[in-house]
Amino acid sequence: MTMDERLQRRLIQAVANQVIAHADELTALDQAIGDGDHGINMKRGFEAVLAEIDSLAAKPLPEMLKAAGLQLVMKVGGASGPLYGTLFMAMGKTLPAEPTMADFARVLGEAIEAVKQRGKSDVGQKTMLDVLAPVQTELAQGHTTSQLKDVADRAAEATVPMKAIRGRASFLGDRSIGHMDPGGRSTALIVAAVCDTLST
Ligand code: ADP
Ligand code: MG
Repeated sequence: MTMDERLQRRLIQAVANQVIAHADELTALDQAIGDGDHGINMKRGFEAVLAEIDSLAAKPLPEMLKAAGLQLVMKVGGASGPLYGTLFMAMGKTLPAEPTMADFARVLGEAIEAVKQRGKSDVGQKTMLDVLAPVQTELAQGHTTSQLKDVADRAAEATVPMKAIRGRASFLGDRSIGHMDPGGRSTALIVAAVCDTLST
């Protein structure tokens, strides 16, 4: 895939605007099973990314991912800031500048492992990992962007009946059941924005 500055700029705009536009929804989800800051945390982080769009888009893609991840670590806060930061920085670490879909699948797999380590967490615990992992599996099978988007949406929905084992929602025990994980939803929003941008 040819990554040029224009496409990178469009990706940053699409992801950041998508997260910012859904901040209230993410906050409402986090009010139900957390402390209600996920929307505001993510909005702050992606506003910081947008503020740096000129320098970010001008970098080679791997450097762009690392620099955006660093912004998220510094600005998002909460549990999700370091985890999203780790995700993007780890993807940038071994991604070639002109990646194939197979490269994306590989680095997403590596980044998911880095998130698990950082969060001392795993798939099945009602977190962003429950959306990231099925998306990675689908990507590794070479599926289209619209299929990836559907997988992400269904995976976020599938966190509703789960019981939280990690993160603040785990303090609620069984009462975390019946609500969508906020980080799972924000991951699905990010995946949708990337897929929409790459398919147009
Ligand atoms: P906080 O929980 O500190 O208030 P946020 O509200 O910004 O942080 O983010 C909460 C989201 O972070 C959760 O919905 C979940 O998806 C994700 N999360 C929290 N802890 C972990 C963890 N240990 N591993 C993976 N994801 C996590
Ligand atoms: Mg929170």
